[in-house]
Amino acid sequence: MQFKLIGPAKDFKFACQICGNCCKGKKKGYIFIYKPDLEKLFEHFKCTTEAKKYEFAKKHLEIISQKRAYKDNNTDVKKSYYYDTIVFKLVGDNEECCFLGENNMCKIYSVRPFQCSSYPVWRIILTIKKNWDENLKKCKGINITSGESYSQERILDILKKEFQLEKDFFLVMKAHNFKIKEVYPFLRDINKG
Ligand code: SF4
Ligand code: SF4
Repeated sequence: MQFKLIGPAKDFKFACQICGNCCKGKKKGYIFIYKPDLEKLFEHFKCTTEAKKYEFAKKHLEIISQKRAYKDNNTDVKKSYYYDTIVFKLVGDNEECCFLGENNMCKIYSVRPFQCSSYPVWRIILTIKKNWDENLKKCKGINITSGESYSQERILDILKKEFQLEKDFFLVMKAHNFKIKEVYPFLRDINKG
């Protein structure tokens, strides 16, 4: 998989300023939760039975639909698919992630999903100029001189991992005719957000 990074996103510095902006607001984007993320969370919260997983899901998870384009096997043609994904609930007037704590600290920092730990190194941000510019306004940690260096090599490694997580999720969903509750039975009566 090739990623066409926009100029300023090829090599930049970043250090989180703990403003909490990236943990709030539907319009600013959702955190998608993939299977390895769920496994970490279930282990952390000791959700060892389906009943406990259901309890966790009821409290913290939501289902939303997304559209993604994929190439099917043996073809170079991209096809658009609409399918359901898992996200954290956003709560309150500010639409905050249900795990955002006081002083913008993440309550599950050590087991936060891949998307949280990899922000702002997301394909959708680093390959589309408009999104990069929007995130520059939203996140004061990007391009901060005292930040950690993100070389092109490091960025591409993270993007490959992101792509693989998305692809694995998509392939499992496709194999189950996009019936998310068949793949994840603990979502049984969770509504679409
Ligand atoms: S928006 Fe940027 S600075 Fe603010 S919490 Fe998120 S990563 Fe940190
Ligand atoms: S899990 Fe933590 S880092 Fe991720 S969006 Fe929620 S509060 Fe922010």
